[in-house]
Amino acid sequence: MENSPMIGGIEAGGTKFVLAVASSPAEILARHEVPTRSPDDTLAEITAWFRGQPPVCAIGIASFGPAVIDPAHEHWGRIGATPKPQWSNFDLAGYFKNEFDVPVGFDTDVNGAALAEDSFGAGRDASSLVYVTVGTGIGGGIVIDGQPVHGAAHPEMGHIFPRRHASDKSFAGSCPAHGDCLEGLACGPAIIERWGKSLSELPDNREALDVIASYLGQLCHSVFAMTAAETIVLGGGVMKTPGLLQRVRDVSKQLDAGYFPGGRRHSIVRPGLQDKSGLIGAVMLGERVALNCA
Ligand code: ZN
Repeated sequence: MENSPMIGGIEAGGTKFVLAVASSPAEILARHEVPTRSPDDTLAEITAWFRGQPPVCAIGIASFGPAVIDPAHEHWGRIGATPKPQWSNFDLAGYFKNEFDVPVGFDTDVNGAALAEDSFGAGRDASSLVYVTVGTGIGGGIVIDGQPVHGAAHPEMGHIFPRRHASDKSFAGSCPAHGDCLEGLACGPAIIERWGKSLSELPDNREALDVIASYLGQLCHSVFAMTAAETIVLGGGVMKTPGLLQRVRDVSKQLDAGYFPGGRRHSIVRPGLQDKSGLIGAVMLGERVALNCA
C-alpha cells in the first residue's frame, strides 16, 4: 500500500473546499476542510495542507460552477462569471497544475458527484444517472455509460422554467438572471425569502413542502423525459427535509401518468454516499488523468 501512488481530490464549493488524499476513490486516507474566502487565502491554506501529505501524482477538482470544463477551450479549468468575490475567471485548475506539477482533472461538482454515485453509490446497478443538488443553488450532472455529459458547456438544470404552483403565483423568484426559474423558486435562499425559515425549521411546512415538491417533481419528470436516465439522485441541504423526497417522487409519478416505456426502472433516491459523493467524485476525476502514476 505504501507504494500506491496517491491522488488528490478537491471538492470546491462556495462555502468550503473539501480536500482528500486517496490511494483510490474507495480509499480516502486523509481529509480536510478549508473555508472558502478569497482565492489567495483559500488556496494558500489548501496548498499548505497538501504539502504536509504524501505527494500526489494527480489532482481531481470537482468545482462549483459555472466552470469551463471543455479541455479544448482556452479557458479550460477556470471559474466562470460568479457573484463570489474575486473568483470570476479564476484559473483554478491551472493553479494546481503549476503549484504541484501534476495532471489535473476538472469538472463540475455535480458531474463529480454523479460519477461517484454512478460507480460506488446509488447508481451502481444503473448505466445512466443524474445527480441533482438542491441547496444554495440547484445544479445537476449527468453520467451515461460511465461518462459525464459535457456538450457545449455543462448542464444547467437549475435554470429551467417549471409551471407555477397555484398557491405560489406572487413570488418573483430569487435567480439574479431569470427570476422564477427552478433555482429561483426552489433553492434554499428562495425558500427563506418566501417563508422566513428553511423547510425543516418551519413549524407548519405542509404548504411550503407541496410547493417545493411540485417544482422538484417537475424537474425529475423533465430529466426522465429528456435524458432517459434510470436513476436520479437528489442531494443537497434542502433534500434533507423530512418528507420532501417522497413528495417529489409522488409528483414525478403523477406527471409521468404511466406514459414512459420502461418507467418502472426510474428511481428517485438519496445519495448512496451521503455527503461524500462530491469528494469521491473529485478523486475519480484525478484518477482519470493519473496516467503516469505507476
Ligand atoms: Zn436561473
